[in-house]
Amino acid sequence: MSIKINAVKGMNDVLPGAVGRWQELEAVAREVFALYGYREVRTPVVEPHALYARGVGEQTDIVGKEMYVFEDKGEDRLALRPEGTAGTIRAFIEHGAYVDGPQKWFYMGPMFRRERPQKGRYRQFHQIGVEAFGIAEPAIDAEQIAMVQDWLSRLGVSAALQLNSVGDPACRPAYLADLRGYLEGHAGTLCGDCRERTQKNPLRVLDCKVPGCQPVLQGAPRLLERLCQPCREHFAAVRAGLDALGVAYRVEPRLVRGLDYYVRTAYEFTSDALGAQSAVAGGGRYDGLVETLGGPPTPGVGFALGVERLALILEALGRPIPARRAAVFLISADAEGAAAVLRLSSELRKAGVACDLDARGGKLARQFKQAERVGARFALVLGGQELAAGEGKLKDMVTRTETPVRLSGLAARLREVAP
Ligand code: ATP
Ligand code: MG
Repeated sequence: MSIKINAVKGMNDVLPGAVGRWQELEAVAREVFALYGYREVRTPVVEPHALYARGVGEQTDIVGKEMYVFEDKGEDRLALRPEGTAGTIRAFIEHGAYVDGPQKWFYMGPMFRRERPQKGRYRQFHQIGVEAFGIAEPAIDAEQIAMVQDWLSRLGVSAALQLNSVGDPACRPAYLADLRGYLEGHAGTLCGDCRERTQKNPLRVLDCKVPGCQPVLQGAPRLLERLCQPCREHFAAVRAGLDALGVAYRVEPRLVRGLDYYVRTAYEFTSDALGAQSAVAGGGRYDGLVETLGGPPTPGVGFALGVERLALILEALGRPIPARRAAVFLISADAEGAAAVLRLSSELRKAGVACDLDARGGKLARQFKQAERVGARFALVLGGQELAAGEGKLKDMVTRTETPVRLSGLAARLREVAP
């Protein structure tokens, strides 16, 4: 007896009919990132659990609740990566990449979080992200944000940019003490999560979406008004940089990155097309993190974008899914034609012309049907007659018209009419 086995809940297939959208947004990312000097890094999907405990933090939802953790045959405690920054930094340190001065890296790939699956939220999802190492100056923050914007707008996506500063170890502790005091004073009207976070990670309370918590959060003290001089200057310079680059943004004083090592710049791109899961990309500065993970003090700033969410936005915009289709479908009329079709397809492919054929052979009508199914631009029937004449009829599958074509000049002709 056979049993049917389905994919793990919250983990999706991307079938050939949909993958063109992914390939497009990835191709544009590669192009844009190269224009800004970012180079690709590929790191493992599995890392030591300790990397995330230290690098993301035990107090975060990601590490506290969402990670897939397992023992490797009773030896090491491992985790499926829930995000890309920690692993990228591990690689950066492990290979001593910091000796080469500032580095701009990007990555693409699957991430894993055990969340409740819903639209735009999955257990295996994909991120495209970048990290710029070794530059403390605000110019890199502005350039990076502008790059995200550039990438999105080349895809025809307009996403709203929220910007904030979360301070640094000089100005944040005093603020956090005040914030905690304020939140404790209003504990009665806060949700359970917020009451818990008030102790563990008070900044994250500001991020709460529960309606009942909003009035209290509206009245909470604001870090943006308490920044120390260097943080104020940094923030002003990031804003000036964005203005100079023509990037529109809104200052959102409640935008936080919930991790201790985040400093100064925090940003997020959101889109109305996404409904409840509106964040498409989030980023910020993490100057303490490389050191926390055992490297030399190295400033850093990065972001990660959710690929599924970007694909959903493109779908909502009604963008067609790009696909490379066969320029010509070769159809065999008889045994001679069948042999010729194989030879000719090989020649065309060597010449860089995408072509296809029905390897089942058989009736002309069925082969034409298959040509239509795969979306071939033209069809060409080959049999003893066409081979003897050295000429066939190129059928336009869209207009249904036929024009004579020399078989010897087929590749050149197709490059003209179906580039
Ligand atoms: P959210 O508030 O939506 O949970 P997050 O703060 O956990 O987001 P980040 O850790 O900043 O998200 O990850 C960056 C991006 O990755 C998000 O903006 C989103 O587009 C995407 N993302 C995060 N978690 C998921 C998920 N479970 N499924 C799909 N995409 C996700
Ligand atoms: Mg999350």
